[in-house]
Amino acid sequence: GGDGALRSRRVLLASPRSFCAGVERAIEVVERVLAQRGSPVYVRKQIVHNTHVVRGLEQRGAVFVDELDQVPEGELVIFSAHGVSPAVRGEAAVRGLEVVDATCPLVTKVHSQARRFAARGETVVLIGHVGHEEVEGTFGEAPESTVVVETAEDVAALEVADPARVSYLTQTTLAVEETREVIEALRERFPALKDPPSEDICYATTNRQLSLEAIAGEADFVLVVGSDNSSNSVRLVEVCRRLGTPAYLIEDAGAVDPEWLRETETIGLTAGASAPEGLVEEVVEHLRTFGPLTVTEHATTVEDVYFAPPAAVRKQR
Ligand code: SF4
Repeated sequence: GGDGALRSRRVLLASPRSFCAGVERAIEVVERVLAQRGSPVYVRKQIVHNTHVVRGLEQRGAVFVDELDQVPEGELVIFSAHGVSPAVRGEAAVRGLEVVDATCPLVTKVHSQARRFAARGETVVLIGHVGHEEVEGTFGEAPESTVVVETAEDVAALEVADPARVSYLTQTTLAVEETREVIEALRERFPALKDPPSEDICYATTNRQLSLEAIAGEADFVLVVGSDNSSNSVRLVEVCRRLGTPAYLIEDAGAVDPEWLRETETIGLTAGASAPEGLVEEVVEHLRTFGPLTVTEHATTVEDVYFAPPAAVRKQR
């Protein structure tokens, strides 16, 4: 700038990015119920952690509530992609609510592991973020036998009934490297620690971190499209910063600060698993207004995961 010529820049698009199979399925569930029943359709919590998705569904007749007592008796309620505890299912039954469950199958898998570990008489160490809906749901499967830890430091303070009977599970959307450190700290304290039968951090979380890592080194800074309550999106920002590249979480194109673009040649761009691809396209279009742009996509893998919607919404009523 300054001399009147527009600076030309490069955008490096990370791939995979944006919607995962669990998010697509959850949104499809709400859309199908809206089409089959008409509005209002009640949804407990944000169906997925994205402001634009929630607003769009609201405009089409979805009503998002925090708790089930806000749903009138006998109505239908959709459970969000993050899953619910058995206590919430119980409450829905007591209130006579018809339930359509949009919990991601990969979250459901972690729930069954929690039940199995607790039934074996083990203390289940759940690695995850206190207060996150997914953690609340998984914790609720065996509250008497489960403890939540966030960091390796938390592990030092842990009290368990029998150090020889400890297993661990994780939230699906954690940072892969950090989680490995927490697991190592656990194994050091509890050498008999039992692993889950398969990795709990999901394929989409892992793939989005790997695709970001592949472009982060080349970028002056990275834009991560996502809402600030989206766990996997916030992790992307952290993963990038850990690699030494500045990163900003942006809700949409409107959040791009022109200051970031001064002296910038290469901008990395990705999106969390709950952020629609359309928002990424809008960011690219917005960046074009600052000068000529070359857009290159860098793919680390191709995803072909699809989760069919639950039977309850597959059949036309
Ligand atoms: Fe499922 Fe992973 Fe997507 Fe969460 S991020 S909805 S666990 S696929």
